[in-house]
Amino acid sequence: MLSRTGVATCENIESILPPKERLQKGPVAVIECFQQIPCNPCYSSCPRNAIKPFDDINDLPVLDYESCNGCGTCIHNCPGLAIFVVDETYTEEEALVKLPYEYTPLPKVGDLVEALDREGKKVGQAQVVKVQNAKGQDRTPVLWVSVSKHLSQQVRNIGMEG
Ligand code: SF4
Ligand code: SF4
Repeated sequence: MLSRTGVATCENIESILPPKERLQKGPVAVIECFQQIPCNPCYSSCPRNAIKPFDDINDLPVLDYESCNGCGTCIHNCPGLAIFVVDETYTEEEALVKLPYEYTPLPKVGDLVEALDREGKKVGQAQVVKVQNAKGQDRTPVLWVSVSKHLSQQVRNIGMEG
């Protein structure tokens, strides 16, 4: 499915999800990079060396979950828009998802938006809690959105309502 549609399979996703115990400790990166290409900015941009060194430029990234603090620096540095940060400790009922977003117009803090899954299907509602768009991000804004906790590993994009 991945090679035909570009959408990762459940098996792909399960292979990279942080363990439950790590998710219960706070924000952590979820790296959904499944195709070998010559690319490594995720590794070189991580200030905590949480992505293990590549033996070969075509290697897939491997995350050391315990070293990652979910800072999100790797999100805007990934040209494949393949990295997210999930915080399942955000509130009792909600998780925070940090995601790259290169569409215009950018939503604003407080906006209610459609929560979309990896295929672009609406799975619920999200609220924008932060918009990061500094010059150094090289035109890859990062949205922080809150979603129902059960959607934390489904929501990977947003759509503007209306
Ligand atoms: S979220 Fe921060 S600490 Fe974690 S892998 Fe990305 S850059 Fe490194
Ligand atoms: S920067 Fe993104 S696309 Fe490139 S290897 Fe890392 S996760 Fe994959």
